[in-house]
Order: sequence, then structure tokens, then C-alpha cells
Amino acid sequence: MNEQIPLLLDVQDLSVSFPGSRGPVRILEGVSFSLRAGEVLALVGETGCGKSVTAKTILNLIPRLTCERDGLVQFEGRNLLNLSNKELLAYRGRRISMVFQNPQSSINPVFTLGEQLKRLIRKHLVDEIDSLRHSEEISLRQAVHRLAREKLLEVGLTDVERLFKSYPHQISGGMAQRYRIATALLGSPEILIADEATSALDVTVQAHILNLLKNLCRQKGTAILFITHDLGIAAQICDRVAVMYAGRILETAPTVELFENPLHPYTRGLLKAVPRLGQKTRLEQIPGIIPDLANPPGGCRFHPRCAHRLVRCEREKPARCSVGVEHRVACHLYPAEARGEHNQAVEAAVSRGADG
Ligand code: SF4
Repeated sequence: MNEQIPLLLDVQDLSVSFPGSRGPVRILEGVSFSLRAGEVLALVGETGCGKSVTAKTILNLIPRLTCERDGLVQFEGRNLLNLSNKELLAYRGRRISMVFQNPQSSINPVFTLGEQLKRLIRKHLVDEIDSLRHSEEISLRQAVHRLAREKLLEVGLTDVERLFKSYPHQISGGMAQRYRIATALLGSPEILIADEATSALDVTVQAHILNLLKNLCRQKGTAILFITHDLGIAAQICDRVAVMYAGRILETAPTVELFENPLHPYTRGLLKAVPRLGQKTRLEQIPGIIPDLANPPGGCRFHPRCAHRLVRCEREKPARCSVGVEHRVACHLYPAEARGEHNQAVEAAVSRGADG
């Protein structure tokens, strides 16, 4: 993604902790990433690494009294973390929208799909309704109905008159997710946060929804923060990937660069664990388990599972350093830019570690 395109969202040093019986549980620690207009960024990591907490914190969806937060979530020069719930109404759904993993549970079960969609159209598409009424000389009701039909057809839903009369439990997961995408994009938001938006769907439906999301957002110029545990999905639709582990971002790079030249030992481990067509050898796995965030390991949080760890890894938190165009990594093996060393020296260090 072109670095000249201005930043839309800039998350800096975001930390979130929840109270626990053994002291605060630091779910996020120093999370930093940015999103440019029209860009698709994947936030990838294992379940429990803090991806969804990151998404919810951006929109202030976690009640303030239940957690401690620190850092910046900068959108149009304002820190969203400091805004009141009333001020946030101008952003949620309008400027920044969200699609969740289980679409049926995020649609109101007591109203029909038609009632809910038409209410949203009246709220978000005032100009479109007016222009349609004047150009076609139709009533408000007819204009809203016409726009509702268009929005459902746009996301590939058919038989819309029947859908208008249906309740969320009467439609399939794939249809519900298409409906949620239609409602999430109604206000033409600048950012869409898709939190495991395709994880609960069949593989074929998943592919359709991914293409739909990518095409619609490209047409409307909407940037996507795509949260997933699936590296295959990240490879399919994202421009850049940020790899997250135990509440920290370990590596960020353009998608092709990350898959061709992964540097962090955790990213390398994740990629080796992805099955490939025709593979004859056993899949490799990362030894150990994800740490208890109530009592995380000191220094690099990945060090108990890392085959390349150095003595300093147990006590010093690695800083993020730049190792290429938009490629950043937080690992003591890569102080390349800070010490002015050539990347090949870094590669050699990793190869030595892998061999021995
Ligand atoms: Fe491994 Fe050390 Fe790098 Fe952490 S900082 S990933 S322990 S080499």
C-alpha cells in the first residue's frame, strides 16, 4: 500500500487490562498499527491473543468501568478512547462499522429483516431517499422500499420480498452475513471492522462472502480491518498482515512479503503449520501453549516457545524495528535498522538458529 496515502486510523501503544482474581490480566500491551484509506489489513493470531479486544476497543465497545485502557486510537485527529458514548454515536456505524462472527446474534431477533433494514435506510440514506422521491415522484415509503431492495440485491440476496418478512432465525448463516454486510455498509463507512466474519460459515459460502466484502469495499473506498485466525483468508484478500501473539503485535508486512519472507519465529511457525496441497510430510507445530496473560512470561512473551531465543529474550521486551518497506518485526534477532546491519546478516542468524 502506497505510504503517500494518508492514515485513516492510527493505533499507538494500545494497552488494555481487565481485573482478575490474581491481579490485572494484560490482554493488550503496546499494540500499534495503522490503516490507510481503502486498505485491507489482516490482524492474524491464535484464539485468545487479543484480536477481538483490539477491535472492540477501537469502537469503545468494552464498558469503560470493566477495564483499564491506555494509548491512542487516532481517527481524524481525535483519540476515540477519550470520546463520550454520545460523541461516539457519530462514528459507530456511520464512519466505522463492524461485522461480527455470528451474524444471526447481531441482528435483532424480534423484528423482521425488512423492518430493521428500512429503519436504518431512513436514518443513514436521507439524501438518497430525497433524490429518489424527486426524480421518480414516489412516496417516502416507496423510496425506502426501493432502496432496501437495491441494498439486498447488491450483496447477492434474492427473493427479497420474502426476506423482508423473515426473522433472523428463519434464514441461513450465509444469508444473515450478507444481510449484515448490507447494513454495515449502508452509511458508506470509511472503515469496516470484520471480526472473524466468515469463520462460522461453510467454506464455499466463506469464499463468496470474502469476494463480496472485498469488491464492495473497493467500490466504496472502504478500508477493512480483517480479524482472523486463518492465514489463508489473510492471503486471499488483504494488502497487509499484522501478526499478533499474547496481546502484542510481532510482525507487520505487506501480504506477499510476509508469506515470502516471514522473519519472526512465531510467524514462521504459523506458516509451517498451514497444510499445503500434495504435502507428504507431517505438519510442523509450534511447541508449547499460549501463555496465561494473568502471569505472562517476562521479556519476549513468545520466548518459552521459541527455538531461537537468546539470553536477553527472557528479560528484555523486543522493540519493533523496520526491516524493509512497511515490514516491521519485534524480535531480538532483528535489530537490523537500529544497528545499521544488512538484512542478510539477520537471515544468517535465523538460519544458524534453525540449524542448531
Ligand atoms: Fe525468539 Fe527472542 Fe525473537 Fe522472542 S525475541 S521471538 S524469544 S528470538
